[in-house]
Amino acid sequence: MLLNDPVTLLLIIIPFGLMTTLMLCLSYVGSSGHRAPLHGWIAGDLVLAAYRATDLLQPGVLPPAFGWLGILQPETAFIVSTSGLLLAIGCHTLALHQLADTPRPRRWQTGVLAIPLLIYGLGAGVLLHSAYLLAWFFLFCVITIGLQCSVTWPLRKRFRGAWALLAGHAALLIFHGCNALTSAIDPPGPVNFDEPDMFSLPALAMDFMVSFLFTLSFALMLQEQLRQQVVRLSITDTLTGALNRRGAVSTILQQERRQGAAQRYPLAVAMVDLDNFKRINDQHGHAVGDLALQVFARTVTGLMRKDDVFVRWGGEEFLLVFPGTDVRQAQGFMKRLRDALEQLPSSGDLPFRIGFSAGLVQTSSMDRREDFETLLRAVDKALYRAKQVRGRVEVVEAMDL
Ligand code: GH3
Ligand code: MG
Ligand code: MG
Repeated sequence: MLLNDPVTLLLIIIPFGLMTTLMLCLSYVGSSGHRAPLHGWIAGDLVLAAYRATDLLQPGVLPPAFGWLGILQPETAFIVSTSGLLLAIGCHTLALHQLADTPRPRRWQTGVLAIPLLIYGLGAGVLLHSAYLLAWFFLFCVITIGLQCSVTWPLRKRFRGAWALLAGHAALLIFHGCNALTSAIDPPGPVNFDEPDMFSLPALAMDFMVSFLFTLSFALMLQEQLRQQVVRLSITDTLTGALNRRGAVSTILQQERRQGAAQRYPLAVAMVDLDNFKRINDQHGHAVGDLALQVFARTVTGLMRKDDVFVRWGGEEFLLVFPGTDVRQAQGFMKRLRDALEQLPSSGDLPFRIGFSAGLVQTSSMDRREDFETLLRAVDKALYRAKQVRGRVEVVEAMDL
């Protein structure tokens, strides 16, 4: 299909320009506020725009009046534009990889971009006038999209938008895989570069649709990530990394829904208060007090299981929730915590021992929100009793809700 007809040309160029602008805006808006490496997605969209422009900028594709735009020979344009497509897939893969937050060496990143491009470019140069050129191109699409798919796969657990990408990848893999197979088994004959026909209108439209949907899913994933970050920040205590009160309530309610009664009960709750903390602040300064809180938090989380909940209830007071644990086992935990704190090296940074008192209670059900509040009142009273001597764990006997 030669675009010698200005109307057809306009019909291509207007949607081309609009879609490209829209996609770039979408990637820009989506990735603003994120770390710079995510701009790999914008880079990929820019390369895609260049890849489509290269298709248009061939002699013979444009009407004679625009002949001066025909910079590239059709053969060169083919290699440049198809390599550009693989480079765009590579840029998008890197952006997805950055989103996945799995550290990989810089060599891997260069490899994703450079190696397929080099091998494909060299192979395409050799196979240019053979019947296997298209099979070679489709094969490389399968390899690069397959790699992108493997990077996206772990993201499906964190972002719903990843499913849209995976569905797109699956469709593209089937499309390019079938094409690679058919053109390898029954080669269609060498591509005729005398009459440039690098694309057809349906192929271009499909190409745009796929890229647009991919960029949309990526922007959605970035928004999802931002939302998750906001939620995480709103329920976390910045100093210790423990949950704050809001986080405690939502996490406990979530667990209540997720865990079966047999797995959850008996459930032990402890309220822990550090001993003589005001004196630590007065003698060593607030910065050392802060460090002591951080060290205490690290020690507790180091001893806890995955489902245990650790909350900074306020100041130097912490709430610990142990599902599937009776009071005796929770006392064992407190003993291990005390031992671990005593074994901490008494260095120049922390020239004192961190001691604590605690109230401890066990329950065999917690059906309503008020039950949790009753539990807290009971554990608070026990803590008050423990504070009379300090360095003790007081247990509330026979708590029946
Ligand atoms: P007790 O053994 O009876 O618990 O005595 P205490 O000194 O630990 O208890 P008190 O409640 O009188 O003091 C708690 C202190 O904890 C007072 C407050 O300045 C300090 N504190 C609360 N939050 C922070 C914090 O984030 N950083 C630091 N450095 N200190 C804090
Ligand atoms: Mg205290
Ligand atoms: Mg206190």
